[in-house]
Amino acid sequence: MSPHADPRRKNVSDDWPANMTATRRTGHAEGGPDPTSPGIEQIRGGGETELLAVNADLREQVRLFEAALQNMNQGLCMFDTESRLVVTNRRYHEIFDIPADAIARGMTQHDICAMLIAQGCYPPSETLEWIEEATRAALQSDNGLPILRELADGRVLSVLYRVIQGGGWVSTFEDITEQQRSAARIAHLAHHDVLTDLANTRAMRLKYLDLIEATDPERPLLAMCYIDLDRFKFVNDTYGYATGDELLQAVAVRLRRNTRREDIVARLGGDEFAVIHRITDETDAPAMAQRLVDALSRPYEISGSLIEIGASVGVTTRPLHDVDIDPLLHDADLALRHAKAEGRGTFSVFDVGMSEAARARRLIETELQVALAEEQFELHYQTLVDADGGRIIGVEALVRWRHPERGLIPPLSFIPIMEETGLLLPLGNWILERACRDAMLWPDHITVAVNVSSEQMRQRSFGDTVLAVLAKTGLPARRLEIEITESSLLEESEVPQANLAVIHDAGISIAMDDFGTGYSSLSYLRRFPINKIKIDRSFMKDAETSADARAIIRAVSALGASMGLTTLIEGVETVQQLEFARLEGVGQLQGYLFSRPQPESVVTKLLYDDRLQAASEQ
Ligand code: C2E
Ligand code: CA
Ligand code: CA
Repeated sequence: MSPHADPRRKNVSDDWPANMTATRRTGHAEGGPDPTSPGIEQIRGGGETELLAVNADLREQVRLFEAALQNMNQGLCMFDTESRLVVTNRRYHEIFDIPADAIARGMTQHDICAMLIAQGCYPPSETLEWIEEATRAALQSDNGLPILRELADGRVLSVLYRVIQGGGWVSTFEDITEQQRSAARIAHLAHHDVLTDLANTRAMRLKYLDLIEATDPERPLLAMCYIDLDRFKFVNDTYGYATGDELLQAVAVRLRRNTRREDIVARLGGDEFAVIHRITDETDAPAMAQRLVDALSRPYEISGSLIEIGASVGVTTRPLHDVDIDPLLHDADLALRHAKAEGRGTFSVFDVGMSEAARARRLIETELQVALAEEQFELHYQTLVDADGGRIIGVEALVRWRHPERGLIPPLSFIPIMEETGLLLPLGNWILERACRDAMLWPDHITVAVNVSSEQMRQRSFGDTVLAVLAKTGLPARRLEIEITESSLLEESEVPQANLAVIHDAGISIAMDDFGTGYSSLSYLRRFPINKIKIDRSFMKDAETSADARAIIRAVSALGASMGLTTLIEGVETVQQLEFARLEGVGQLQGYLFSRPQPESVVTKLLYDDRLQAASEQ
C-alpha cells in the first residue's frame, strides 16, 4: 500500500505546477478566487492578445517558480494522492548524491526509496518498510514537526512531511549535520571542564546516577576520592597562571591514566578533583587513594621547569544503591580536610568520628558568632612584676569566653577557630578597646599588654585602629604594650612591618611573645622595633631539670641587656623559679606565683593595694 492513498484526495499531478503558479500569483495559499485577479470568464471573454498576454504571464510565473524551487536550500519532493512524484528539485539530488535522471516524475515513493536503499544512502537499519511506515505516521499526524534521519555516511537530515491541501503531500529534506555538531559541542562543553576536558560537577552528578543504575553484584560498593593539590597556589604565584593551567591539564592526564574507563573523573573547580569508582571490597578504597596520591606527587615537567606538588585525598565508600551523591561528597570532603590536617601528601579514610567532630566544630562556630554579638567575652588580667623590687609594673590582658552553659572557656579553645573563621578581627578590636578602657581605671604607671594575632597585624588599618582606640579611650600611648608573635613577622608582606612602625612611632611598646618557641630569629630583634622579649614559660618549667633551658634563659637575658631590650620570663610558679630568674638577670616576671589572671575588679584592687604598699615602704 502506498503511504498516502486517500481516495478523497484529488490527483494534483495533472494541473501542477500551473495551479501552484496561479496560487503564487494571487498570493492566496488556499487557491480560492481573488477579486483583484482576472477570472477565467474574463480571460475567455477577452481577445487573442489578452490571451497571449496571460500565457506569457503564466510562463513567467512558471519560470520564477522553477528558479525558486531549484535554488532552495532544502531538498523537496512533491507527491500526488497516489504517492507518485510530481516534482523534485536539484538540492534533493545533491543531498542523496544521485544523478539528475535517477528519478523522474511519476515514480512512486516506494520506487524512490527502494532506489535510495539500493544506492546505500540509508544505514542498513532503515528498511523500505520502516521508511514507508515512518512516512505514513508523519503524514497522519501532520504536526509540522520534522523527523531526524541519519544517512549511511553519518550526515543527519531533518525531514518534514506535510499534507497539501487539495491532495498529495510534500516532503522537505534539510542537511543539519553542522548544526547537530555544534549542538553536540555545546552539550559537550556544558558537561566538561574546558581546561582539562574532565567531567564537570554537573556531569559528575549525571554520570553518578548512571553508575548506580547499572548495578553490578560483583562490585557492590563505590568509592569516592576527593582530591586537592598541595602547593598549587604556590605554582600559580611563582610560575604564573599559564603554567598553573598546564599543570592542571597534566594532573587530569594522570588521573585518567590511573583510573578505569568506567570511573568518573571530574574537576570540581580550582585544584580540586573527584574520582568515583566501583569496588569489590572496602579495602580497595585506600589502595586507590594511595595510588592517586603517588601518581599526582611525581614531579611534572612543564615548559622546561620541573615542578613538584603533592596531593591530599579524602576517601569514602558506599553501597552502590545510595542515590544521593551529596552525603558522599560531604564525607569525602571531611576526610580530605583530615588528610590535610595530617600534613598533606597523604589520604584519609572517612569515619563517623570526623563527622561528629565537624558537627561539633560547626556548632561552636555558630555559638562564637552569637558570643560576639552578645559580648559573652571577658578580659582577665595577669600582673607583670619587676624582678628587682617585686612591684607590679603592668598587666597582660587575657581573654575568656563566658559560655552560657559551659562556663568560662580558655582562649586556646576558641581563638584558633575564630582566627580561621575571620571572627578574631572584630573580637581583637573589642579586646583592645576593653583593655584600654579598663586600664584608665588603674594607677598611671600601670601598663596594659594586649595580645595581637598575626591576622590582626596583616590588616592594613591595624596601626591606625590602635591609635584610634587610644584617642577614644584617652589612654596614653606609653601605657599600652602590644604583644606580637614571630609568625606576624614571618611573611614577606610589608603590612605587618608598616603597622609596627605606626605603633612604635606613636610611643607604644612592642613585646615579642613566646620567645624561644618559634624560629627565634635574632635578626627580628634587630630589624623590627621590639622593646621587650617575653621568654616562653616552657623554659621556666624546664629550668630546674634542664641545663639547656637554663643556658637559653641566661643567653636571652644577656642578649636583651646588650640590645637595650627588657626581658620578661613567663610561668614563674615557685620561689625557686623566682630566685633563678633573678639570678640570670631577667628584668620582669609573670606567673601564678604572683597572680593568676583575674577579673578586672579583682586586679584593680590588687593594683591599688600594691601601690599603697609601695608608698608605705618608701
Ligand atoms: P600567652 O600570651 O602566652 O599568655 C600567657 C598564658 O600563660 C595564659 O594562658 C596564662 O594564663 C598562662 N600562664 C600565666 N602564668 C602561668 C603560670 O605560672 N603557669 C602556667 N602554667 N601558665 C601560666 P591563657 O590565658 O590560657 O592564654 C593562652 C594563650 O591564648 C595566650 O598565651 C595567648 O597566646 C592567647 N590569648 C589569650 N588572650 C588573648 C587575646 O586577648 N588575644 C589573642 N590574640 N590571644 C590571646
Ligand atoms: Ca601574651
Ligand atoms: Ca606568652
